[in-house]
Amino acid sequence: MTKVSTEPASGERAPSGAAAKEAVPIVVVEDDPNIADLVGLYLTEAGFRPYLAPDGEAGLLAIERHRPKLVILDLGLPGGLDGFEVCRRVRAGSDVPVVLLTARGDEIDRVVGFELGADDYVTKPFSPRELVARVKAILRRAEGAPAAVEATVIGSLEVDPARREARVEGRAVALATRELDLLLFLTANRGLALSRRQLLDGVWGADWYGDERTVDVHVRQLRRKLGDALPLATIWGHGYRLD
Ligand code: CA
Repeated sequence: MTKVSTEPASGERAPSGAAAKEAVPIVVVEDDPNIADLVGLYLTEAGFRPYLAPDGEAGLLAIERHRPKLVILDLGLPGGLDGFEVCRRVRAGSDVPVVLLTARGDEIDRVVGFELGADDYVTKPFSPRELVARVKAILRRAEGAPAAVEATVIGSLEVDPARREARVEGRAVALATRELDLLLFLTANRGLALSRRQLLDGVWGADWYGDERTVDVHVRQLRRKLGDALPLATIWGHGYRLD
């Protein structure tokens, strides 16, 4: 088993010169060296700078050290820290997007993963090409915040797209990337009854393959974190409306 690499994975395949300096860092936490190397290779070829970590502890260290723009995280990891725990710890201090990898396709894993603040979910066996496409889509979305728009004030809740922040009574509330995206989308469409499908398309993108329960999981998180400050109505059999 290799130790956490402090150099970009697959160094000989890394882009050279200025391109390498600008390459977006991504931490890949995966104990299967074949999968890790394959993902690293595809990320490198796509112009990213992957750092590979073979277990949860090495992963947390690599995330702290390299400040990645995205984390690819296997759920089944050896040692004391499984992917869920790593996700929880990452989320406690950061809103870096997290894509979970797992051999298990269980709905329960997916739901728990989203509740922990993961942004996407890929079930093994997966196509590395598709994984890279999703990574790009998530990074586009994370960086594609609308150009400076004033914060929307809804009672004690402030939704600030420029700072990508939600505040309740002036205090910032820590939201996962997708939770904030969902809140921004609801705010931009305030007063409209939005179906779960519209929310999926608007927040996750029309090419996202997940089911509509994903929306409910994220709504539950928003309600838990924002409490009464979130005037969100459930439209039974349809979706949600922010009042
Ligand atoms: Ca594994």
